[in-house]
Amino acid sequence: MRILIVEDHPDILANLYGFLEPKGHVLDSARNGYAGLALASENQYDVIVLDIGLPGLNGIELCQKLREELSIATPVLMLTARDSLSDKVAGFDSGADDYLIKPFSLVELDVRLKALVRRAEGQHAVSHKLRFGDLSFDPDTQEASREGRPVVLTRTGYILLRTLMQAAPRIVPRETLEQAVWGEDRPDSDALRTHIHALRQALDKPYEHAMLRTVAGVGFRLVLPDAGS
Ligand code: CA
Repeated sequence: MRILIVEDHPDILANLYGFLEPKGHVLDSARNGYAGLALASENQYDVIVLDIGLPGLNGIELCQKLREELSIATPVLMLTARDSLSDKVAGFDSGADDYLIKPFSLVELDVRLKALVRRAEGQHAVSHKLRFGDLSFDPDTQEASREGRPVVLTRTGYILLRTLMQAAPRIVPRETLEQAVWGEDRPDSDALRTHIHALRQALDKPYEHAMLRTVAGVGFRLVLPDAGS
């Protein structure tokens, strides 16, 4: 496994290296939050061991930035020196997957790390790929296809398609689509129409049957080509 350790305590860091490296793991480490964040954003790790009490950016803040700003889903095991409930709650709120209280057993750490990586791999194997009839969309790679042929969209088009596919064959209200694309900062009503038109061109124009249907006065839905009109 490739493991990033963000820990400012030299003895703990040395112990982790002494235990994990001989097991064949490849380790990177940072001694403060900002350096840890930089490594986590530049490299791909299987798991991150993250101390909560760090100089600069603390572990909770680092984890929040990873999840919210960088959309990095690498499993995080937090280390906390204090057996305080607030630390744990804050850790999980920030997007950590597990935690250990110092002093911890290295054997237990190893078991927890393996479990986290296994779990993440399982989730990855299932993947987030969406399917509806012959239509498929992988949000991780932003690749869509219909009947095996690529459907090329704009960024907004992909958001619309993902939202419609997640609900399909149910109707998605116009407001829900606008919210998905623009959040609270919605533009005038014609903007959605323009994007839906572009989506329709890419998704349906080359094919005999249209999948994207307008539900007058409500919103839009995807239907299977053989579902009739
Ligand atoms: Ca510390």
